[in-house]
Amino acid sequence: MESHLEDWIFQREYAERILREQFDVAELTGFGFDDRPQALSAAGAIVHYLRENAARGDDAANGDALRHLDRVRYYELRNSLVLDPVSVRNLELLAPIFLEESTRSPGPTTLIAALDVTVTGMGARLLRSWLLRPLIDPEAIEARLAAVTHLVQQTVVRGEIRKELKGILDLERLTGRITLGLAAPRELVALRKSLTQLPVLKNFLTPPPAGAMEERERKRSGIGSLKIRYNQIFGYYIEISKPNLHLAPADYERKQTLVNAERFTSTELREYERKILAADERILEIERQLFIDVRSSVASQAARLRRTAAAVAQLDVLTSFAKLAADRGYSRPELSSAGELLIIAGRHPVIEELLRQKGERFVPNDLCFEPGRQQLLLITGPNMGGKSTYLRQSALIVLMAQIGSFVPARQAKLPITDRIFTRIGASDNLARGRSTFLVEMSEVAAILNHATPASLVLLDEVGRGTATFDGLSIAWAVVEHLQKHIRARTLFATHYHELTELADLLPAVKNVHVSAKETPSEIIFLRRVEPGSADKSYGIEVARLAGLPHSVIKRAREVLKRHEQSEHELSETLSPVGSGTAHKNGNQEVLFTALDHQVLEKLRGADLDQLKPLDALNLLAHR
Ligand code: ADP
Ligand code: MG
Repeated sequence: MESHLEDWIFQREYAERILREQFDVAELTGFGFDDRPQALSAAGAIVHYLRENAARGDDAANGDALRHLDRVRYYELRNSLVLDPVSVRNLELLAPIFLEESTRSPGPTTLIAALDVTVTGMGARLLRSWLLRPLIDPEAIEARLAAVTHLVQQTVVRGEIRKELKGILDLERLTGRITLGLAAPRELVALRKSLTQLPVLKNFLTPPPAGAMEERERKRSGIGSLKIRYNQIFGYYIEISKPNLHLAPADYERKQTLVNAERFTSTELREYERKILAADERILEIERQLFIDVRSSVASQAARLRRTAAAVAQLDVLTSFAKLAADRGYSRPELSSAGELLIIAGRHPVIEELLRQKGERFVPNDLCFEPGRQQLLLITGPNMGGKSTYLRQSALIVLMAQIGSFVPARQAKLPITDRIFTRIGASDNLARGRSTFLVEMSEVAAILNHATPASLVLLDEVGRGTATFDGLSIAWAVVEHLQKHIRARTLFATHYHELTELADLLPAVKNVHVSAKETPSEIIFLRRVEPGSADKSYGIEVARLAGLPHSVIKRAREVLKRHEQSEHELSETLSPVGSGTAHKNGNQEVLFTALDHQVLEKLRGADLDQLKPLDALNLLAHR
């Protein structure tokens, strides 16, 4: 539905007035509107629109429906890693490309499904928004990584935090419902229950005494296994195992006896406990005060509650990242400021999980980009060999690093990436039922217009949606352009074997292939990415294994040979060092011969006794 707003609604003065009124402030400084009049106008118009529409709702007759809208934040796309909608879909971040597959397979089919081990609704929503807008500020990324690192090391604390988080309801939603006047009494009770859990969480985030004091007591007593711990019943205690008891310092006071150990306390530890408990009491006091406020005017605390909700959400996501890292052996990526990108033993976070659930192992692969030396990789190899997977895992590793997560790789050294582009050749994508080749080309155009040297470009079988020579020619020119003018880090998976010759012509273009081993009865996919181009296309072997008649296979080999000859001539033509005399007629002749024979084979293969007239017509139409 379209609606029109009159011009005056976009006036600067009106926008300022309505926003000041909405946010209940005297000045709009701090909202990020300085020197951004258009953003101001847009925000003003949106609030105007919302007010008009909210006023029509039943729940909002009192005009308070927008009370919870109490701030606005300015952001620019270029402040985060840009993912266009096509790439979000192609990388299957939120939804699988083919829906049927997702219902068939038991495991995760999207990145979000593979990574979301959050335990609150707030955390889940935050993860989603982090996925769609990864960071590009190295300091912000490092801050998240540092938090994850801490939580990876603190196994016990991590478990406790997650346990506590589970009991916290969706503060964000609750606050929204409360300010809208929709919350029922039991929701207020739920809010209270969730809030009482916050001090417990906070406790986990203050550094434990163990680090400063435990080390010292170990040294003093000479007991390496001495532990300082806390539990709900006994508070803080020093634990010494039975064999070491004789070493316990004289000033320790016995607190509790276990089968294998004794627990002690000391003057210092009691003092520490007193301080902590006092702090706890203070926190409790604050919370109690908060409850009173909540009862009288919950809505007036909305902003504060939302800040709390945001903090809980962050804690949830960061703790989840730590859990994934610990459970799946992810490692902390290193951000590099030089342009080099290095991934050692990288894995695809989604497919690895799928395979793990089936009891199979994912084969890790390396990736290296180096400015001026290796900027564009052409990936060849048999169908089902693992090309698309290799492309996507590279993008997903880059993306995961920039949302502050550890990554599925033994080691990753990554420069900050400004944009990720992912394009899939049209015929891989027929389900969409549009003029797919046109779509494919407009998507490629967007890359050539927007990619920078700091971008990561994935091209998967691009050029496939049209006739072979068209497609090849376009692919060839695209690679040249990407390499000569854009210099973006690029992975290009292709079945156009001819393209591999570009590695001889352009300095920073290199060939790699996914390896496969052929036995008389099958083709074994090794899934390892190795230097050099694939030495052959396996299509005919696959056809043979599938049971195509021997005569057809033999003929296909002959046709392939003639094609390869003509391709050789073609690439000589395209190459600047080639002879320069095109064998155009030769090419066409070979093509027609090939088609003729295909038609003949088909006609010969048709069972004329069984063929109905309509089927005969169809056969001809499909020649
Ligand atoms: P291609 O693009 O070369 O046709 P894909 O990347 O689609 O091949 O891979 C086909 C299938 O092979 C994937 O669905 C996946 O199950 C499996 N696969 C791919 N790469 C790996 C790998 N490194 N380790 C294990 N299995 C893999
Ligand atoms: Mg593929």
